[in-house]
Amino acid sequence: MEEKITVDGLTFVPYLKRDEIAAQVKRVAEEIRHDLQGASPLFICVLNGAFMFAADLIREIGMNDSKITFVKYSSYEGTSSTGTVKEIIGLKEDIRGRDVVIIEDIVDTGLTAVKMVEDLKKRNPHSIRFATLLHKPESSKTGFQPDYVAFAIPPKFIIGYGLDLDGKVRNLKDIYVIREEE
Ligand code: IMP
Ligand code: MG
Repeated sequence: MEEKITVDGLTFVPYLKRDEIAAQVKRVAEEIRHDLQGASPLFICVLNGAFMFAADLIREIGMNDSKITFVKYSSYEGTSSTGTVKEIIGLKEDIRGRDVVIIEDIVDTGLTAVKMVEDLKKRNPHSIRFATLLHKPESSKTGFQPDYVAFAIPPKFIIGYGLDLDGKVRNLKDIYVIREEE
């Protein structure tokens, strides 16, 4: 793994390596598989950031009767939340009576998560679960608690494994954290 990388003038250092990520994805997959035994869940991947986590997670879960669909929400500009959550691509499926699992990259303020869960509840699913790769509990403005968390992390800006800085560096195989001022 490279030591540090620079994106748009900001420096990032290695934080979570691909092997640690894979191990935690596997653990979360086992929890979800256990909790949803006998169900045919619909996974809802939140674009763009969760695409890589979702791809790895559903392969680890390995439920052939499950389905996956995609929604898109946006609240970030640069390295901070704007506080306004916009739905960019909505849900087309009928989820009445179904077991749904939202797959997110990161819960920061929790505003996106709360809005999504509220929107989905109105459509009368049988159950809603929320899986996130990363959770920043100290940044919460909502008290939202995800059902499945691969990593709880401090409130620092991170990139890689799907997470971006202004659309860039989603391709990185490892997760990097912004370097603190020295
Ligand atoms: P929230 O609505 O404040 O919880 O933010 C949710 C969204 O903000 C996430 O789904 C990410 O797309 C983005 N986000 C939050 N923290 C980070 C970060 O550290 N790096 C990259 N994107 C982030
Ligand atoms: Mg996201």
